[in-house]
Amino acid sequence: MLIFEICAVTSVCPESKGVSGKYIMKNYMKKKIWLSLAHMSGEEQKYIQEAFDTNWVVPLGPNVTAFEKSLEEFIDRDKRVVALVSGTAAIHLGLLQLGVGAGDEVLCQTFTFTASANPICYVGAKPVFVGSEYATWNMDPGLLEQAIADRIKVTGRKPKAIIPVHLYGMPANMEAIMAIADRYEIPVLEDAAEALGSSFDGQRCGTFGEFACLSFNGNKIITTSGGGALVCSTDEQARKTLFYATQARDEAPHYQHSEIGYNYRLSNISAGIGRGQMTVLQSHINRRREINNLYRKLLAGFTGITFQTEPDARYFSNHWLTCIQIHPEEAGFTREDLRLKMDAENIETRPLWKPMHLQPVFAAAPYYGNGVAGKLFENGLCLPSSPVLSNEDVERVAEVIRSMYN
Ligand SMILES: *Cc1c(COP(=O)(O)O)cnc(C)c1O
Repeated sequence: MLIFEICAVTSVCPESKGVSGKYIMKNYMKKKIWLSLAHMSGEEQKYIQEAFDTNWVVPLGPNVTAFEKSLEEFIDRDKRVVALVSGTAAIHLGLLQLGVGAGDEVLCQTFTFTASANPICYVGAKPVFVGSEYATWNMDPGLLEQAIADRIKVTGRKPKAIIPVHLYGMPANMEAIMAIADRYEIPVLEDAAEALGSSFDGQRCGTFGEFACLSFNGNKIITTSGGGALVCSTDEQARKTLFYATQARDEAPHYQHSEIGYNYRLSNISAGIGRGQMTVLQSHINRRREINNLYRKLLAGFTGITFQTEPDARYFSNHWLTCIQIHPEEAGFTREDLRLKMDAENIETRPLWKPMHLQPVFAAAPYYGNGVAGKLFENGLCLPSSPVLSNEDVERVAEVIRSMYN
């Protein structure tokens, strides 16, 4: 319930009744602006009620099936979507089906959230991290190719899979990445957890690879409170995903198992929230893009600030979060100066993801980089981007940035 309560707190001003306008304004100025909040359509409760009324309070049911169907219709009718408890679980089951196992290596974008890389370890394989390009902030195709060639030289074997990430909604350069993957015949598992609704060259993110993961965690573009999905290319893959997600039960009247399974299926209650969220997905994307545009307009001409930007017309980002870099020599202040100032102004911001090759847990993993990911981490900041933000909220955030130049 926390998210609903936070929403209520930020979207209305209960203490405004019966006090002067000036007082209201002063109080309003102190209102917390959050980085990224869930926003309910109102339809969610109808589907949850339906689940209760029909006694489908289980990890399968009509909401799960309908949610999967509507995701398929949204991203690509030829794909099969299987709803799971998390995006992390989706990556796990994707790797499993790509035959990744003990001793294998998997190439993974270093500039990402740890959930992209952890499942590589779940299956006993080793992550090899690949650096980013400045154009998209995502996997650098040149470094990818270099990494493949070098791993073949060092280990005598090809890496088993490639995990590019569409970070903050920005599509990776899928044309170049897929061309390299095809040339070396290495399957791609896209991490599209942050990129539902993004596309590259007219094709949705999450439909390029053999598999892709989506996430519906609390602050993603849509939420099921917690949840995710594996996007599969064939019916057989979808059937296998379902099999592994429900304890790998053989066909028999009794419980019989020939393989190790998992308990990863999304509940019919969570899927009810997802169905409601699908009705506002497009408007959320529109609003997040509007917010991104507004930030750009308000900060145009200020030196030392650059945005994560669509490199050309082929790239369409959902702009899940608007992200900037502060270049201290030109701006005269650092990312950290700005973050602390925002904090003092009751505005939540967050440094960009700390790259995996700099994480203590992955210190021993091989890394093929160029310094870009580390620089992005050092200088980058995520700005509040919730669809519930008003233009005045965005202006308030921008004003704090402008004040740094005084
Ligand atoms: C959120 C996220 C995930 C994992 O999704 P969960 O549903 O939280 O398990 C994976 N990769 C990236 C880049 C994410 O942001």
